Amino acid sequence: MELDSLYQEVILDHYKHPHNKSLKPHPTIQVHHVNTSCGDEVTLNLHMNGNVIDAITWEGVGCSISQASTSVASDLLKGREITEAVALIEEFQTMVQSKGTDRGDENRLEDGVAFAGVAKFPARVKCALLGWMATKDAIVQATTKEEK
Ligand code: ZN
Repeated sequence: MELDSLYQEVILDHYKHPHNKSLKPHPTIQVHHVNTSCGDEVTLNLHMNGNVIDAITWEGVGCSISQASTSVASDLLKGREITEAVALIEEFQTMVQSKGTDRGDENRLEDGVAFAGVAKFPARVKCALLGWMATKDAIVQATTKEEK
């Protein structure tokens, strides 16, 4: 797999030194997502403070793309309001599913744009999305839980 070397460095750096990788106890919601096509797994704890994401912590195993991408998501989405976080997740999803036509907005997705090149490798798209979809799932569950 050939990615831009700068982007490859960002991914490797997050893979080797993952951010927020240690589950914080007493989450608002915990989710466990698996990407069976690659064998990636992530357990993610979402901590909400009202409408704002207070923390995203996680544990996982799998390929460098899945683990690095979860690290980036946990950084980028922390401190965001729900609507903002969901919008960013959707932007990231659009980018990695664009088959390379959407390079992503670095001002919004920050290190997330390093995964734009993954869009050219359909088999790896699910790897890149794992942590982001887990976060989205946790947000939806947290929102539903609050309405009850
Ligand atoms: Zn993978």
